[in-house]
Amino acid sequence: MPKWVYLFHDGNAKMRDLLGGKGAGLAEMTRLGLPVPPGFTITTKACNVYSAKGRFPPGLKVQIAAAVKRVEAKAGNRLGDPGNPLLVSVRSGAKFSMPGMMDTILNIGLNDAVATALAASSENERYVWDAYRRLLQMFGRIVRGIDGHKFEAIMDRWKAKTTGGKDTDLDAGMLRLIVDEFRAVYTSESKDFPEDPRVQLEEAIKAVFGSWNGKRAVDYRNFHKIPHDLGTAANVQTMVFGNLGDDSGTGVVFTRDPATGEKGLYGEYLANAQGEDVVAGIRTPLKVRELKGRMPRIYAELNRHAMKLERHYRDLQDIEFTVERGKLWVLQTRAGKRTAKAAMKVAVDMAGERLITRDEAVRRVEPAQVIQLLMPRFDERAKEAARKEGRLLAHGLNASPGAATGIVVFDPDEAERLGRDEKRPVILTRIETSPDDVHGMLHAKGILTTRGGATSHASVVARGLGLPCVVGAESIRVDYEDGSFSVGESIVRKGDAVSIDGTTGEVFVGAISTIDPDFRREKELLTLLSWADKVRRLQVWANADYPRDAVRAREFGAQGIGLCRTEHMFFEQERLPIVQRMILAETEAERREALDRLLPIQRGDFKGIFEAMGDLPVVIRLIDPPLHEFLPKYEDLLVEAAELRITGKDPDRLKEVERLLKAVAAMKEQNPMLGLRGCRLGIMFPGVTEMQVRAIFEAACGLKKAGEDPHPEIMIPLVGHVNELRVEREKLERVAKQVMEEQGIRVDYKFGTMIEVPRGALTADEIALHAEFFSFGTNDLTQMTFGYSRDDAEGKFLMAYVQRGILPANPFQTLDRAGVGQLMRVAVEKGRKARPDLKIGICGEHGGDPESIAFCHELGLKYVSCSPFRVPVARLAAAHAALREKAGPKGTD
Ligand code: PEP
Ligand code: MG
Repeated sequence: MPKWVYLFHDGNAKMRDLLGGKGAGLAEMTRLGLPVPPGFTITTKACNVYSAKGRFPPGLKVQIAAAVKRVEAKAGNRLGDPGNPLLVSVRSGAKFSMPGMMDTILNIGLNDAVATALAASSENERYVWDAYRRLLQMFGRIVRGIDGHKFEAIMDRWKAKTTGGKDTDLDAGMLRLIVDEFRAVYTSESKDFPEDPRVQLEEAIKAVFGSWNGKRAVDYRNFHKIPHDLGTAANVQTMVFGNLGDDSGTGVVFTRDPATGEKGLYGEYLANAQGEDVVAGIRTPLKVRELKGRMPRIYAELNRHAMKLERHYRDLQDIEFTVERGKLWVLQTRAGKRTAKAAMKVAVDMAGERLITRDEAVRRVEPAQVIQLLMPRFDERAKEAARKEGRLLAHGLNASPGAATGIVVFDPDEAERLGRDEKRPVILTRIETSPDDVHGMLHAKGILTTRGGATSHASVVARGLGLPCVVGAESIRVDYEDGSFSVGESIVRKGDAVSIDGTTGEVFVGAISTIDPDFRREKELLTLLSWADKVRRLQVWANADYPRDAVRAREFGAQGIGLCRTEHMFFEQERLPIVQRMILAETEAERREALDRLLPIQRGDFKGIFEAMGDLPVVIRLIDPPLHEFLPKYEDLLVEAAELRITGKDPDRLKEVERLLKAVAAMKEQNPMLGLRGCRLGIMFPGVTEMQVRAIFEAACGLKKAGEDPHPEIMIPLVGHVNELRVEREKLERVAKQVMEEQGIRVDYKFGTMIEVPRGALTADEIALHAEFFSFGTNDLTQMTFGYSRDDAEGKFLMAYVQRGILPANPFQTLDRAGVGQLMRVAVEKGRKARPDLKIGICGEHGGDPESIAFCHELGLKYVSCSPFRVPVARLAAAHAALREKAGPKGTD
């Protein structure tokens, strides 16, 4: 019979698949000799059977009963024994941490008889009734699906009768009456609460298993790409109580500050409370460091255990603990969620402390965290001005860094709709958040709450999502019904703009402009990237159209320019009229004149880029888009012509507009993306590309003569047939040769092509004979392979496809390995066969996407090219790919 149940003694940290992260952690801590309340774990496999069949697998009940006996023996009491009862918790715990997404039920084992006996024998009768009401509340909501508000309304009514109005102000007598009222809720809403603790236990385990497929857990897994078939384990553990008086309490401690990465204990402790009180942020807790003065022995022991766990796991730990009448219990440890900034610091510091290797440090930081670190923040001057204008509304706790401006939305459903469907920046504003709000949080730009601390639900989830978050802004009064919040006299309504600074905890009314972070000052990131550079094989180049982009790209560490889209230079305001004149020229002389005027401008552009890049390669792609893109829109011209005709004001302009209308009409195509663009343009209008090549070589020769060493690479777009490339090459190389002869100097250059048409990929062997390099234009290649418009598909159907699971991801963001990737593989193989030294890279948007970068590494490309801001991300992702390869298919070390 399969083993479904493991006592904590029987497991270890390596058994995450079977015991979940929490179960494996409890087992490992037990093994390390830490004070862990005894218990056992029911495996993820049992959960999967339960999910599939709707009942426990055979043998599970017997194994649970046997495990309960062992725990009873260890704890010295018995489930359901009124004289000496064992109370347990049942907690979920999947392989990957999904904080707050699944369910937990505490205090199982209490019933009327046990509670009455316990209360009679206990010095602290209050805690017994408090524990019982909590069980009834959790069990009712989670196991029986009773609306939680029914219980909360009763609590609120009773709290209102006390002077303090808090849960701790309820006395034993009141709590006992609350228990009676809670039981009555069961009778009216569901069936009676089960008196038999074994029935409670079984129902609770089933509910925890069921929560794996609850909406919020499924949403969370979809967002984090966690497979749905892993299942959760259920951990059954002896209860310890933090609410037995002032020598008891409960807390959460991190071994380093999860916001900054600074070394030292960081966390919160709430005296006379159970864990859920800390997480819910109902009362404001103490800082853990303050325990040092108040409970020095406990603090020293906690510090010792925390350090032991950090050294053992070699990572920042997030530890839950309870003090029960002066005795410390460690309930849980896991790798602590952290901000991007903390992730870098912890990784670099731990490598410095020799806890981990440099490779491991590189592996520990996610490319997404580099993105977060390079997120915009508020312009300090704009913020100062906002302060002076009296727009600083409130101050809360700086729970997750970053700056966000957006509209106030109170309802998570609305936040989801506005953020996801309408792409509006939303600041989700709540009194406090709960797991039921996560779907709204996923689509917000920032989170603001008026209650809670650094480990409240809002803080933990926001940090995990990399969202700016301010919590516990207590001066803000939220009125959900009215759809507004107020601070003193100021009222902010739903839809008004606010700005939150998750790094400082400030909340402003109105928008504040943001600025980009200073990459050069991110010390730990720079260190980490220097380590990443040592292990990666892929080079990282940048897509840059202007000298200023090239300068920035180099600052970020680009090793070349992989795509300079020359037509972007044509769009500049003062150049567009010349470009239009060139397109509309009626005689060859007219066209020549326009091209002659463009030549020095382009030469200047290229010179600037070559200067910025020194001796690094610069791939310049010749003109690509259809020419009508440079002309005014047909519809706009029609409107203008009609107005001019009616007013009769400017006959010369009318003539011009009519000429433009004719030209634009003549160029109109039904399918411009499949029309006269790319290399087809150069073939049909040779003057433009000849001018561009002349400009490139005049610039390069000039610099070479001045002692520089530019390396231009001429790239032809949208080649589908080898003959297209052949004719372009012959013509353009002639121009190159001519310029070099005129200038009396030679420049090293390469001639190559983009691979962005499926036929080009399939005939790469023929094409490679005329190209020294290939660059995959995966934007067009994806468009043409799927037959999806790259401009419209996302809004029309693509995101719906992703949501419904028809596609695993947006193929314009993450490379489709099976289709587009296969074409790339064919092109690499055929291309290299025909020309072994063929240089191959990628310059589509995928060049900055970590998963796609991993694929490029596997294909053996020489480089990925991405936007300058993505260069640091790509450097790290390329290192991750190399480290994964080094580790082999299984291991990570
Ligand atoms: C591409 O198609 O992937 C590409 C880089 O070219 P563009 O986006 O300019 O069409
Ligand atoms: Mg393209």
